[in-house]
Amino acid sequence: MAEAMPKVWVTNGRQKKLILGHPWVYGNEIDRVEGEAADGGLAEVVDFRGRTVGMGVYNSRSLLRVRLLTDRSETVTDELIAERVRAACRYREIVLSRPGTDCCRLIYGEADRLPGVICDRYGGVVVLQILSLGMERFTQVIADTLTECEKPSCLLLKNDDPIREKEGMACFSRVLSGTMPDEVIVHENGIALAMDPAGGQKTGGFLDQKDNHLFVRQFCRGGRVLDCFSYAGGFALNAAAAGAAEVTAVDISEAAVALIRRNAQLNGLAVGAVCANCFDYLREQVRLKERYDVIVLDPPAFTKAKANMASACRGYKEIALSAMRLLPAGGVLATHSCSYHMPEETFVNTVISAAQDLHRHVRIITLRRQDIDHPVLAGYPESHYLKSLWLQMME
Ligand code: SAH
Repeated sequence: MAEAMPKVWVTNGRQKKLILGHPWVYGNEIDRVEGEAADGGLAEVVDFRGRTVGMGVYNSRSLLRVRLLTDRSETVTDELIAERVRAACRYREIVLSRPGTDCCRLIYGEADRLPGVICDRYGGVVVLQILSLGMERFTQVIADTLTECEKPSCLLLKNDDPIREKEGMACFSRVLSGTMPDEVIVHENGIALAMDPAGGQKTGGFLDQKDNHLFVRQFCRGGRVLDCFSYAGGFALNAAAAGAAEVTAVDISEAAVALIRRNAQLNGLAVGAVCANCFDYLREQVRLKERYDVIVLDPPAFTKAKANMASACRGYKEIALSAMRLLPAGGVLATHSCSYHMPEETFVNTVISAAQDLHRHVRIITLRRQDIDHPVLAGYPESHYLKSLWLQMME
């Protein structure tokens, strides 16, 4: 190891979570920095006694001052990064070998030991996002390895997340190889989905719900299904494919509603698409005394900070209350929270409290998570963000 490697001393006690697998050192966990630590450069992290915790990438401009890459004192080489990308792609073969599936998350940042690196596959299009300054200099090796493993028809570097500015990086989007088609059509468990990876939300789609989309099918046959916060219609399309008698998908965004219509047409499935605020729509359905057999709620993160927990809970409870009023005994409610800050237990209790307020009995069918291409890294709870609670209304 080079003599000049800067050393980041973490305060006593803070080494524990790092040793247990948490890859972030916050600025306020640092006692002192020895040597010249360059933003975006490598640094060795040591505990209060000077024992090596690992090697990471340093950025003085980020709250996450160091993101750990290894738990040894070793130089982080291009080859190490390439090997991690290969391992990430190898693991996703499990998902890509599901029948009728050609999309998945290839790299899930910290859970693939590539902090701040996100990569998604949409059919032949691979979309790469670098969100940490320290990983920026590995862009080329990551892109080359993705090309080697995935042989994409188009590789898009979608570095336009505003989070990059907080790290001191510019926002831009660039095709690295191939050509970007006007419309990308991906397949998820046999359902075709039109996507807009260049313009759409996140890297363009909601890959974390694939397995939950499939899961809804078994409850839908012959029933009346309402998919709230539907985006591209993942739940609605699967419900229709499973033989639901009537499916309605609701989203506030015109673009999402257009996508739902396009996707229904692509699959030859009947899905009614409504552009509305789901809070109002649900209330209106209650007023009209409508009844559904299955309702899916999948709102955006109501809270991006711990401080907003109470109002987030009110939001989850309000839509759960309305949904439960629309579900007779036997009806199924699938309700989601994609906010990391909302603990699973709090979310479950909030939804159950809605049933209690209504003097309704419910039972928990299952409690699910994000799909397995978004694995949760032990010791790093931030990588578990999606809660998927399935309830059945009882008499
Ligand atoms: N259920 C989708 C993902 C939903 S993401 C899937 O499985 O792929 C959340 C969606 O909620 C976004 O499409 C967003 O446009 C929509 N949304 C946000 N606020 C809303 C509101 N108040 N009413 C209806 N839709 C809303």
